[in-house]
Amino acid sequence: MKSVTVVGCGIIGLTTAILLQESNFKVTIVAKERFDKTLSNKVGAIWFPFEIEPKEKANYWATIAYKQYQQEVNKENGVSFIPFITAYNEKSNTDWVKLLPKKAVRKAKGSELPTGIDNAYISEVPLAEPLVYLPYLFNIFIKNGGNFIEQDIQNLQELSSLDKWVINCTGLGAKKICKDKHLHPMRGQILRCKKTNISSFADSTKKGALSYIINRTTDCVIGGTDYENDWNQNIEKSDTNLILNRIKKAGLKDKSPEILEEIVGLRPKRNAVRFEFDKNFSNVFHNYGHGGAGFTVAWGCATELSKIFIKITDNKNNISSL
Ligand SMILES: Cc1cc2nc3c(=O)[nH]c(=O)nc-3n(C[C@H](O)[C@H](O)[C@H](O)COP(=O)(O)OP(=O)(O)OC[C@H]3O[C@@H](n4cnc5c(N)ncnc54)[C@H](O)[C@@H]3O)c2cc1C
Repeated sequence: MKSVTVVGCGIIGLTTAILLQESNFKVTIVAKERFDKTLSNKVGAIWFPFEIEPKEKANYWATIAYKQYQQEVNKENGVSFIPFITAYNEKSNTDWVKLLPKKAVRKAKGSELPTGIDNAYISEVPLAEPLVYLPYLFNIFIKNGGNFIEQDIQNLQELSSLDKWVINCTGLGAKKICKDKHLHPMRGQILRCKKTNISSFADSTKKGALSYIINRTTDCVIGGTDYENDWNQNIEKSDTNLILNRIKKAGLKDKSPEILEEIVGLRPKRNAVRFEFDKNFSNVFHNYGHGGAGFTVAWGCATELSKIFIKITDNKNNISSL
């Protein structure tokens, strides 16, 4: 059996590992932290191509992921489809609307718009609740014969020496491993709250004034911030207040939502998702830098990657023929 090591146990690493197993690879995951300690475990996580480049490629991956989630809808694994109001203006990239099945998206009527939003789409989109979905994926990985090793990788040389083939899914961790100057954090502070009666929506039309709410099975996530190059992992009360003020303006007028937890996460933002073989360590393939859309594109990246690996491990092919 062909052997591959996937480094990283967030949404990108887990989906990559599972699709490689399904393509008959023996897969080991090596990671500094298991899935429950990752950024992926902390977030919404709704299907929305937010802050990810290049857009065309991200849209392609997102389409594949959308179809995968359609097959996975189940309370037991945390996947559902929910109506989601997405604000747009003349500057917004709304290409993603064209990706959805026609029945799954329409323009919102005036009466459906949260206060302060002039134009929006209402779409049926996947929600993959990480607290249920990540353990579900990890269990599939283990049932498929996967092996998990906890290890902090220091550099590319160490990464490359792990196996015959290595896939780098370390998110923002790739900054240290690859000394990648194109990768930086985009700080997001969010509030996990008791459920509210306001509809799920996102308004990302104004940089620095991101506002959204994602209603989940037992709680909701209210956001957020989009601060570029900000490594601060502390909870900032000033951000909590900004988030609450924006959501109040959008329709939660009666009372403040009951906060269960304040959370900070750093989006692994890059000028373009790094999805390629390393130039110096030719057994290493990079799959990181998915910005604010890891859950939105993960299955698409994993599908494309597993096809590449089926090809290169076929004796007739090598990397240069791809
Ligand atoms: C506030 C916020 C809200 C978000 N909401 C959404 C949303 O609604 N929908 C959506 O699609 N996306 C959302 N995102 C983006 C999404 O969370 C990320 O794109 C995604 O989690 C990245 O996944 P990942 O697997 O690449 O990284 P991570 O989840 O960070 O996993 C990285 C893995 O690599 C390992 N690792 C790192 N460094 C090393 C090392 N040196 N050695 C060994 N292992 C290492 C880690 O231990 C971990 O296992 C949001 C992000 C934020 C911050």
